[in-house]
Amino acid sequence: MAIDLTAEPWSPLLQEGREDGRLVREAVHGPGRGACTDAPAELHPELLGALHGIGIEQLYSHQERAIHAAWAGPVIVTTGTASGKSMCFNLPTLDVLCRQARARALYLYPTKALAQDQARALASFGLPRRVRPAIYDGDTPREARAEIRRSSNIVLTNPDMLHVGVLPNHAAWADLFSNLAVVVIDEAHVYRGVFGSHVANVIRRLRRIAAAYGTEPRFILASATIANPAELAERLTGLEDFQLIDQDGSPAPRRRTAIWNPPLTDEAAGARASALGEASQIITRLVRDGARTICFMKSRKGVEVLCRLVTDALAAEDPELAGRVAAYRAGYTPQQRRELEARLTRGELLAVITTDALELGIDIGELDASVVVTFPGTVASLRQMWGRAGRRGRGLAVYVAGEDALDQFFCRHPDDFLDRPVEAAILDHESELIYRSHLLCAAHEGPISAEDAEFLGPRWQAHAEVLESSGELRRRPGMASATYVPRNEGGYPAADVSLRSASPETYAIVDVSSGELLGTTEAARAHSTVHSGAIYLHQGRSYEVRELDLDSHRALVAPFSGDWYTQPKRETDTEIVRLLDRRETLGVTLSFGEVSVTDTVLAYQRRRLSDHARVDLVSLDLPPTSFSTQALWFELDAQELTDSVSTEMMLGSLHATEHAQIAVLPLIAMCDRWDIGGLSTNYHPQTGAPTIFVYDGHPGGIGIARTAFQRFEELCRDALALITECPCSDGCPSCVQSPKCGNLNEPLSKAGARVTLERMIAAGDGGAPAALRKPSAVV
Ligand SMILES: [Zn+2]
Ligand SMILES: [Zn+2]
Repeated sequence: MAIDLTAEPWSPLLQEGREDGRLVREAVHGPGRGACTDAPAELHPELLGALHGIGIEQLYSHQERAIHAAWAGPVIVTTGTASGKSMCFNLPTLDVLCRQARARALYLYPTKALAQDQARALASFGLPRRVRPAIYDGDTPREARAEIRRSSNIVLTNPDMLHVGVLPNHAAWADLFSNLAVVVIDEAHVYRGVFGSHVANVIRRLRRIAAAYGTEPRFILASATIANPAELAERLTGLEDFQLIDQDGSPAPRRRTAIWNPPLTDEAAGARASALGEASQIITRLVRDGARTICFMKSRKGVEVLCRLVTDALAAEDPELAGRVAAYRAGYTPQQRRELEARLTRGELLAVITTDALELGIDIGELDASVVVTFPGTVASLRQMWGRAGRRGRGLAVYVAGEDALDQFFCRHPDDFLDRPVEAAILDHESELIYRSHLLCAAHEGPISAEDAEFLGPRWQAHAEVLESSGELRRRPGMASATYVPRNEGGYPAADVSLRSASPETYAIVDVSSGELLGTTEAARAHSTVHSGAIYLHQGRSYEVRELDLDSHRALVAPFSGDWYTQPKRETDTEIVRLLDRRETLGVTLSFGEVSVTDTVLAYQRRRLSDHARVDLVSLDLPPTSFSTQALWFELDAQELTDSVSTEMMLGSLHATEHAQIAVLPLIAMCDRWDIGGLSTNYHPQTGAPTIFVYDGHPGGIGIARTAFQRFEELCRDALALITECPCSDGCPSCVQSPKCGNLNEPLSKAGARVTLERMIAAGDGGAPAALRKPSAVV
């Protein structure tokens, strides 16, 4: 069937973009026909009746397959946004609850808002005699808690509450654990990096406690599309043989995808028109043309500015339209959210501009267009945001690129980008500090002995011995096999472990204007992120640090509305502690191991938000801090470097190479460049040669450097492409400059990095002779 393209409300806008080159690439997907099937006849009759009652006569094929899979073993479902994923875990769970009056289920959600949405969805089945869902989180009134523990048969909670409230008090939850039939982990892709490494340990503790009460619950996971769903499920739970359900049987709308790059304003400096300005034009046009639009941005301030730009533009022409645009941010009450969702669904609101508060599965009905401003960090979340577009069988998904290195890299590789496989979600449940903190929590929940290896892994005893020598655990005398109990029986270690930070040592961030505790930050990062004078971003809002109190581990901050941001100037040293792996590749010796990173924050620079111009440099007087983590490093031949890039350019070449590698590392490991650190030096005392280090930015490491070590060749090729293709002359924020460089981007040699990486790639292709290299002196 031929579809008239001009019939789409956004056709004129796209045509303009094609003509002036801002529309870099477009693609059309779908429509796809859905595959429907009958619900399995084996489902409990009451559940089948309930399905008919809410008007569901047939299931999508993936829902039916998920039910059968869940009957057989652990399962993970990764079909698209709005494909009815929650049916995939709700139906098998409700089936069990209909059959067994005492059976109970636990649902884990990363946010309270999502748990509330799911509780509503469960209630809508209309099975009040069989299904009694209840939310158990920090907001649950004390007086309601005992009743929930006693009688709710679907407890919806979050990993933090499970960790600090439920597991340490398992005796109070004995009935739940004794009858625990199903554990649902929705939005599983969120559990990656530091948070994921913690949650993986919490899930192991959960399985261990359930086993102590004689149950072995069935795990059903749901996730956005990621590269390694089965691996993530196994790492998160410690279970094996997950069945993967990824064939989507829901009908896909016909969706047009557009990559939009603001025009260059100064080619040599790499400067472009602002992404915000472009986005406001796009949204204004869409609203005027009657398309219901959602727009995603990272920062709350950006959301506010963009909303104002759009409202002002519309008000000039039609004040009525201006009133139909709203901003939406984290921190809204459920009631405010409901109201906004309803206004969207009714069509009263034509555009909503939001931070990623709306990214995770919340039900806002169908929309015509989704506009994502600047790269949200992963292709997986970009796709999820785009997935919002598609009403009446057609939709528009736009990505407006920013000036960051990855944004511009994608604009130069739009086809790769559109076909790009989503990233792998990485977590490391054995990351040492994280693992040990949970081992101590587990010991408080019950003595640890050999049979716990099934849940805690084969190396538990080595870690227990470390905790014994630090005085936190003690070995019970007179037992045949080693059994460990806490030294301080009355302690409550879970209260000291935040699931959002890699090390137990944290700084509290307190808003002095309200007294509110905004959050915590790892001690290892405190000096560089919350030094006095720093501008600190929390949930998209800016704060200025008034004081960093090193003794009480507190940063006092106040809301900030000035027009500058800050960048710390640091001196960093890395010491190689232990070599774990090594290989020869691309003409260099590539190593992976443990390093100790010592940072001294010397000063900070203030820069104007509008044009990044330097305001001033303010010195600080802070002691050095260090943490141990995992790193890859490689040595280059000093003589070769001198010959090819000259002595003066050597450090700038190494430094720019390091920046380019860090910029593209998120392409292979699902992380943020802020999770990664780097160091380049003309001479490292342990390797005896010019050396580049790339390390995990979190104490203990969470698997990022390991992934980079394994896929180093890809990393170097992407870094070279990033540099060679950038149109700037001497390096810009879209290639070798880094927004988090501790040396404030000095010295940097784009040309030198290019030569260095080209030599490495050529050596890897067999084009260059094996270089004579100096023996390295690694311990
Ligand atoms: Zn550039
Ligand atoms: Zn740097």
